[in-house]
Amino acid sequence: MSEKVVIVGAGLAGSLLAIYLARRGMAVTVFEARPDMRREKISAGRSINLALSDRGITALREVGMDAYMLAEAVPMHGRMIHSETGGTKMLPYSGRKGEYINSVSRAGLNVALINEAEKYSNVQFIFNERCTDLDAASGELSFESGRTYRADTVIATDGAGSAVRDAMERGLPGFQISQAFLDHGYKELHIPARNADTLVRSEQSAFAIEPNALHIWPRHKFMMIALPNFDGSFTCTLFLAHKTEQPSHSDGEAISASDASYAFDQLTSEAAVLEFFNREFPDAVPLMPTLVEDFFNNPTGHLGTIKCWPWDLEGRALLLGDSAHAMVPFYGQGMNCAFEDVRVLDSLLPERSAQDGSPIDWRAIFEKYGELRKVNTDAIQDMAEENFFEMRDSTADPVFQRKRELETLLEQTFPDYFSKYSMVTFREDLPYAEAKERGNKQDRLLMALCSEATEDRPIDAGVAIWLIRGI
Ligand SMILES: Cc1cc2nc3c(=O)[nH]c(=O)nc-3n(C[C@H](O)[C@H](O)[C@H](O)COP(=O)(O)OP(=O)(O)OC[C@H]3O[C@@H](n4cnc5c(N)ncnc54)[C@H](O)[C@@H]3O)c2cc1C
Repeated sequence: MSEKVVIVGAGLAGSLLAIYLARRGMAVTVFEARPDMRREKISAGRSINLALSDRGITALREVGMDAYMLAEAVPMHGRMIHSETGGTKMLPYSGRKGEYINSVSRAGLNVALINEAEKYSNVQFIFNERCTDLDAASGELSFESGRTYRADTVIATDGAGSAVRDAMERGLPGFQISQAFLDHGYKELHIPARNADTLVRSEQSAFAIEPNALHIWPRHKFMMIALPNFDGSFTCTLFLAHKTEQPSHSDGEAISASDASYAFDQLTSEAAVLEFFNREFPDAVPLMPTLVEDFFNNPTGHLGTIKCWPWDLEGRALLLGDSAHAMVPFYGQGMNCAFEDVRVLDSLLPERSAQDGSPIDWRAIFEKYGELRKVNTDAIQDMAEENFFEMRDSTADPVFQRKRELETLLEQTFPDYFSKYSMVTFREDLPYAEAKERGNKQDRLLMALCSEATEDRPIDAGVAIWLIRGI
């Protein structure tokens, strides 16, 4: 008899996991709270597009989905920094050819994964079924509809607001959870394609700004980014504090424009939104004809890091993806990490023939999985938080820009040099924890070198690599 697995959540991780488990002959039932996004027009949730990079691509490749997904992706070779005065500067992600990230449609990817999973006769998706509880003793799931369901094991991929995680918190003594929300929220906005009616999709001239870049408008206390879409448009995301900071100046002291802290709670009228955007993003405003409508129609999202432990319930259930380790989006790794989770879990499953009826030791597999993964997901969650400050503050800093240029040169010159960003993004063979440790040491050294450099005393790449190799 084949092993029966229930997956809760047909998002990015759950749909990919269904494919992996189906290939192993398991009977997979996937319960999803939302309607089937292939039949009803619903938001794919969280964000319109995402950056897909090597860890995610490797997992897609294992199930033969990489080429299909990359065919409609827009490569992003670096960060395009937009200054307050409208000037731009491209900071490449890597000095090596072929190392770039890819902007993909979240809905497109999710639908493709569900379609692929449904090709297997042993996979069933059940939509409009919201899980509300998991009985810690029996492993039985309950749903909002009143339905209950029991499987050999449950894998929860129900995202950052996981109901299964909540049930484990209620029912599992010693379950630990920490949730740290940023003061900043996010709002998605839109730059349409040029002459959308007449142009061929993905043609270079369809894009109103450089297509092969992740655009950033860093403004210290907030920032806007834009990722290209295959149809020539861009999805912009404004990251801004929810609430206005109280100024700490003494009474009577004037607050300069650069000190003024903008927040969502101030942007309540059309005039306020336009004043803010015209002042901070003057080069973007003419490209955003629906700015005001988008601003007031689109929701303001929350961002946070959720860490919890243990992830497994004695073999009866496992948390995977955002349900186990939601992170802020500033390294572009949440989905990539969730896909890597799936790959690692799959690598621990025993090779069995279809006739082999011996039960799988889920408890041992989940324990091993947690042991391998937790240290690495903690590392990428920490790096994602740190990268918020890098994108918002440092990308505009000349010392940081010098460091990125030096890193590009080092990557072009020395095959053994990888920046922290490259280790996280392009080295699927390197665990996140190692990338963090090695990357932080390199960053400290290079920032020190770059802050001492002057025009008369430029940095010697040979000296820099010698110092790095000695770390
Ligand atoms: C603004 C933003 C930008 C991002 N950009 C990137 C990026 O560029 N690159 C990247 O790698 N990551 C990015 N991420 C992170 C990425 O979105 C997540 O890490 C990824 O979606 C996690 O996949 P998941 O399947 O675990 O969760 P989700 O994709 O959230 O899927 C969860 C699924 O479970 C369903 N569900 C929820 N509750 C229940 C329930 N009770 N019962 C049944 N079903 C349920 C949901 O409807 C959903 O379908 C970004 C996130 C945000 C917020």
